[in-house]
Amino acid sequence: MGKTIKNQSLAKSTNDENIVLKEVFGLYSEYYKYAVKRKWLEIPKDLPHREIGFGITKKVDNRNICFERSVDYLKWVLNNSPLHLYKSLSYMEHPENMGGANQKKLFRREIAFDIDTHKTEKCKHDENWLCEHCLEEAKNQTLILIDEFLTPFFGFSKNDLKIVFSGNRGYHIYIDPKNEQLKEEIEHWGKDERRYFIEFILGKNLNLNQMGNSWKKILIDKFKKNKFATKSFENTKNWDKELNKVNREKSKPILLNIIDKTKNRLELDEKVMDDDIRLLRMVGSLHGFTGFMAKEIKYNTLSTGFFEPLSDAIFSEFSKSYYDIKINSEINDVIIKNERYDKESKEVPASLLLFLYGHGVDFEILEKH
Ligand SMILES: [Zn+2]
Repeated sequence: MGKTIKNQSLAKSTNDENIVLKEVFGLYSEYYKYAVKRKWLEIPKDLPHREIGFGITKKVDNRNICFERSVDYLKWVLNNSPLHLYKSLSYMEHPENMGGANQKKLFRREIAFDIDTHKTEKCKHDENWLCEHCLEEAKNQTLILIDEFLTPFFGFSKNDLKIVFSGNRGYHIYIDPKNEQLKEEIEHWGKDERRYFIEFILGKNLNLNQMGNSWKKILIDKFKKNKFATKSFENTKNWDKELNKVNREKSKPILLNIIDKTKNRLELDEKVMDDDIRLLRMVGSLHGFTGFMAKEIKYNTLSTGFFEPLSDAIFSEFSKSYYDIKINSEINDVIIKNERYDKESKEVPASLLLFLYGHGVDFEILEKH
């Protein structure tokens, strides 16, 4: 039954690469046909005022693209099946113009956070690889952002947030208030307001001489968890003075360390909040590094631990077609849909093929099943 795509000139590496490339683009194309039909692929709101970007060989090859009609945008996606696909967070008068916000005449902007985690202490892989531990860290940071900041201090409800698994080691959290007036307000924030928002969350303007209530509450909770008495901190705004009291000689460095660690818990890409013309991955597209779906996840699915990216962000059809391959370079292990793969793996699903391709692994396709 298997269709042999082993080429008579297998020794020629360029031919091998062409076979792999053809297969990869075929799979992306198969996915987008499905995604468009099922309406999984995001059509950015007010499409004519949004800039579209895409990447084939690198993350962003091309931008300044725009479409008047969603049917043309979808046709373009189907024809090109890009490895990376983005839209601008901003709405602009001239999204097709090259240059910055002035040339494009920006008039409104979505507010989104990008959590992009590095490898954790538990990770045993190279920096650009991933595993269940760094994916877990990305999920935890997303929940911290929502549960410790966006909900209690900014008053957003879970329904006001759109959470999207990025397709790699991260999540995008969009603020999309149901209250129209509030939505109007925040989507007209300027750069300064957006900067203030993210800097507050990162504790960048935290002043120990003059503690505000929000950060005070966050840190007091942390002190309590570490079994420190907190009464004196609760009763003053001047923590600097409190920390420098004679009887705190021993506890001061520990408390300062807790403060520092708490401020640095979130790996937020500040540009996604700050940059006027920033592009963000299209919801429902595939991530070119992994072949995983950038997928919207409900808060409860995330918080109850029901979302497992290494299974749930895999397009189901990519688990049905198999290839015989030969991997020529050293790789770390990776688990996809509960199967572990390594350098010796010979028979692999399409999902692994895309993951290897995206990570620049040298491999050959011997046969397609
Ligand atoms: Zn990891």
